[in-house]
Amino acid sequence: MRLVFMGPQGSGKGTQAKIISETLNVPHISTGDLLRNAQGELKKEVDKYMLKGQLVPDELILKILKERISNKDCKKGFILDGFPRTLNQADELEKETEIDKYFEIFITDEEAVKRLSGRWNCKNCNIAYNVITTPKPKVSGKCDVCNSDLFQREDDNGEATKKRLELYHKEIGPLIEKYDVIRVNGKQKIEKVAHDILEKLEV
Ligand code: AMP
Repeated sequence: MRLVFMGPQGSGKGTQAKIISETLNVPHISTGDLLRNAQGELKKEVDKYMLKGQLVPDELILKILKERISNKDCKKGFILDGFPRTLNQADELEKETEIDKYFEIFITDEEAVKRLSGRWNCKNCNIAYNVITTPKPKVSGKCDVCNSDLFQREDDNGEATKKRLELYHKEIGPLIEKYDVIRVNGKQKIEKVAHDILEKLEV
């Protein structure tokens, strides 16, 4: 099963991609995470765009993505989270592989801004917390699992967030017109959103 998950920042698409990838036993591929984990020269290049809330050039992300989905673990399928973001990326993806279903986890911009300001991740194991929604860390600023410090993503600040949401609507609009995208209400309990997705997948 090859799936694409779209959704504004803070919609919970990453959380859902993780849950559904575990349920279907296929890898969850977040292009944002792939880029955040870049090292050395590549990291310097990527940061020029990411820290300003801009998309990295198609050429760069396509190279990284194509490499990732050609891995053995993607034979049975995968869930793409954060890709494609442009029509060009979508066209290139189509040349590479066939996507079974496109989902959009939908929330309003107002809700997205509110949620992003509460987002914290563990420095060590990258678990995501949210002090406004859930899951909240048991001890403020510390990871429940490994007790490491939590941090806020540099591109979750006010200005970059606004820019990313504007970009999201601009870029995703044509994709939503092009594909038969299944819209799922993201402003529900995590379990209910996952249930709605699985129902559409008929698994
Ligand atoms: P995300 O974690 O999906 O919010 O992505 C964080 C940042 O990574 C974005 O603001 C972009 O700078 C970059 N990024 C992630 N996915 C893509 C993509 N498909 N195309 C271009 N840039 C991307």
